[in-house]
Amino acid sequence: MTTIVQCPTCGAPVEWKAESTFRPFCSERCKLIDLGAWAAEEHAIAGNDLEDDLFSGDLPTRPH
Ligand SMILES: [Zn+2]
Repeated sequence: MTTIVQCPTCGAPVEWKAESTFRPFCSERCKLIDLGAWAAEEHAIAGNDLEDDLFSGDLPTRPH
């Protein structure tokens, strides 16, 4: 029995076997797209952290 997984990028069915080099992705393209998405997300989180730091720096001066 062959296990079929969904490509996380495009949702295409991918056979989970040694020949599926890019599993769980259907192709190298989808793998690269997903890695790029993660990298972009990490950058976004880093940017948010920086904003949060600036924001919390303003907190003590804010009337409570
Ligand atoms: Zn795909």
